[in-house]
Amino acid sequence: MAASTTPPVRILALGGLGEIGLNLMAVECGGHAVVIDCGLMFPEEPALGGGVYVPDFAALDTERFSIDAIVLTHAHEDHIGALPHLLRRATAPVYGSAVTLAFTRRRLREGAFEGADLRAISPRTPFTVGPFTVEPLRVTHSTPDSLALAIRTPAGLIVHSGDFKIDENPVDGERFDRERFAALGAEGVALLLSDSTNVERPGRSGSESSLKPILRDLVSRTRGRFFVTAFSSHLHRIRQAAEVSREFGRRVVPLGRRMAESVRLGLEMGLLPLPAGIFIEPTEAEFLEPHRLTYLASGSQGEPLSALSRLAVDTHPRVRIESGDVVVLSSRSIPGNERTINTVVNRLFKQGAEVVYDAIAPVHVSGHASRDELAEMVALTRPRNFIPIHGEYRHLTHHVALAVESGVAERDCFLLEDGETLVMNGAGARRGGAVPSGRRMIDEAGEESSPALLGERRALARDGTVMAVIVVSAKTGAIVGGPELVSRGLVNGDGTSEHMRRARAELEARLSQVGSLRAGDSRLKGEIHDEIKDEVVRALRRYFIDELGKRPLVITHLTEV
Ligand SMILES: [Zn+2]
Repeated sequence: MAASTTPPVRILALGGLGEIGLNLMAVECGGHAVVIDCGLMFPEEPALGGGVYVPDFAALDTERFSIDAIVLTHAHEDHIGALPHLLRRATAPVYGSAVTLAFTRRRLREGAFEGADLRAISPRTPFTVGPFTVEPLRVTHSTPDSLALAIRTPAGLIVHSGDFKIDENPVDGERFDRERFAALGAEGVALLLSDSTNVERPGRSGSESSLKPILRDLVSRTRGRFFVTAFSSHLHRIRQAAEVSREFGRRVVPLGRRMAESVRLGLEMGLLPLPAGIFIEPTEAEFLEPHRLTYLASGSQGEPLSALSRLAVDTHPRVRIESGDVVVLSSRSIPGNERTINTVVNRLFKQGAEVVYDAIAPVHVSGHASRDELAEMVALTRPRNFIPIHGEYRHLTHHVALAVESGVAERDCFLLEDGETLVMNGAGARRGGAVPSGRRMIDEAGEESSPALLGERRALARDGTVMAVIVVSAKTGAIVGGPELVSRGLVNGDGTSEHMRRARAELEARLSQVGSLRAGDSRLKGEIHDEIKDEVVRALRRYFIDELGKRPLVITHLTEV
């Protein structure tokens, strides 16, 4: 039997599979790769001290392929946010739609990256990179100009959905390209990768434009100022809020730098087809009556420095919530943020506002496809193989089941997690070997926080710290004073409690055994010091695990005299 001469194509799942965020995927053939998206993730643990996660790019080193292109499907942070970090490691042209590139420019500026080679792409206009031809396809999503990708490879046609929904009545009139997906399906799709975010929601997601009458109704009965929160990249939502505000003679005030930039960008690109004079600065708004004003605020997820959070605690420099104001939280809580958002809502009520959120009224429509739309994507493309993407493990599991219901053979569905690969040749697909994957924390100064540092922060938040201060002889290394113990966040009091006295007694007993080591001069002083430090960690860890079930961060401070 003749061996297949088709070079294999590998799909490398490097981020976003088994988690929401950090989207990063590589399609590789013969040492050439196209990278799809490069996103970040906001941590759920506030104790980690701010910062964001970016994907671990180690696989790009170990797999030794050249990146011929980075293709961005749309402008959301979980798809473009880590791009400055990737471009510092790999030089490659970046392809995206006009709107995506406009937001990408801002992201690169914020990441202090200059000199990127950005190339605009449009739906139904294929371009070639290495062994691949990539055709962008129009999809609808919660940011304009979002794309799916059809990638022609030596091992067949791959369709990557990007983030999508099928909006029958999109705000900008740019429809999901059903015809083109169907045409690709008729041609033969070897592999479909499809957005799993809302696979647990029955039916269809509904149109973004269905929000306009609801917003209109809310504005019509607002006596004071009208506040709307949304992601600053959600220009469709911003457009609808601005249009209904205009109907009632209100001017629209973007709050915060990011929101103001998005509005400027939307006006420039024709995505906000309104007279520019509708939008005014916060300083101009001070001269207008409350019922003439709508404010656009960022911070729908309760981000501490956002306009909304500042309004909630009355620390915004320009605007103060008053009775009669209405605040619409036009977004879904991202899991993990619910408590923070809840606090913001409570504070806004306390300031005198009426707060409207999705539990009260349907003031949000998701940008992701529900089950019937996901089934339609499978029906349109009729793929031979299927990989669910963009979801936690349970979403991926449900999406595989849905694909099977929709006609894909179970053996041809591959539930990949980050670090796993699929190998395709002309004949079929199979799982490949593992590749490195993971996430890295980048702090607000742009520096990477090591796993050790993050581990210390977690331990501190959970179990506190205990420090042992020991005085040693500069000459012999022998202990001449201490140990004294000081703790923070572990037990009540700083070192005088019963627990601290008993821990100290146990530690003293252990350290007296180290004493025999310093009798012989053959040991180096540093070795004795290491021995002391090891004993301190062992003794204190054991005591606090046994007595309190805690693992405090143990710090040993040796002072020489
Ligand atoms: Zn998205």
